[in-house]
Amino acid sequence: EENGKDPYGNGISSVIPGWFSEISPMWPGEAHSLKIEKILFQGKSEYQKVMVFQSSTYGKVLVLDGVIQLTERDECAYQEMITHLPLCSIANPKKVLVIGGGDGGVLREVSRHSSIEKIDICEIDNMVVEVSKQYFPEVAVGFNDPRVTLRIGDGVAFLKAAAEGTYDAVIVDSSDPIGPAQELFEKPFFQSVARALRPGGVMCTQAESIWLHMDIIEDIVSNCRQIFNGSVNYAWTTVPTYPSGMIGFMLCSTEGPTVDFKHPVNPIDEKESQKSVRPLKFYNSEIHTAAFCLPSFAKRKISSK
Ligand code: SAM
Repeated sequence: EENGKDPYGNGISSVIPGWFSEISPMWPGEAHSLKIEKILFQGKSEYQKVMVFQSSTYGKVLVLDGVIQLTERDECAYQEMITHLPLCSIANPKKVLVIGGGDGGVLREVSRHSSIEKIDICEIDNMVVEVSKQYFPEVAVGFNDPRVTLRIGDGVAFLKAAAEGTYDAVIVDSSDPIGPAQELFEKPFFQSVARALRPGGVMCTQAESIWLHMDIIEDIVSNCRQIFNGSVNYAWTTVPTYPSGMIGFMLCSTEGPTVDFKHPVNPIDEKESQKSVRPLKFYNSEIHTAAFCLPSFAKRKISSK
């Protein structure tokens, strides 16, 4: 960075002093900005640059390679949806695998389900886990659940080695397909997810924005339609601090008992909602069903795949 204010290349804006700007070739010509109150952490792991800052309106913010991963204010909209869309769609989920998700937020949400017996997580970067435990205790609280087993390693290799038919649900909480998460968007990875699921098991994976990455979404949908012989559906949620303000999820089930993602059979009850450090903020059964309603342009493209 020319003025030396951003030696780590974390997106500390040289255009608007004191602000973070999310500049990336993944969304050319636009850059969402947040005012920085204080930079709390900057480091570089084996895999990526890691930064935490206190923003003035969204609480603390976790940034990897210059891209916002979560903010305290809107993380609920992502973590609750990526978790409960799949887990509320099947009866009695017992074994769950999380790929990525090193902040612990998805674990916190999985923990609300009392039917769950085993939660495996495979995150590639231990620095994300450590930084989250230090700066985001209400997110990293997910690691405290005794049902959780954390593995630091590549999710692709972990799934290749997983025994066939092991999991009721696999949740892929990954970063964008540039960097260590690239393979998590490719066909061989989805094949090993399908293999690791029991018949009628479900996958939910982060699947980008219909405003920015319809081409990536079309690829994911067409790969998934070839691999998953059950249901294949796209859903979405709003996350104000993600590029374009929204993010999608790909929900798929393997051949076996039919999964109707749009009509949850395992609604989260009041007791489960109250669990964890806080009650649910975003997810409910109505928003679950609504998440599968797509704008016409996206519906046309996705259904043609
Ligand atoms: N939970 C976040 C949120 O609220 O938006 C989503 C981002 S989460 C921090 C994404 C994680 O995926 C990162 O911690 C990254 O290190 C991890 N990751 C990327 N590639 C991976 C891989 N191949 N295997 C396992 N984890 C990976």
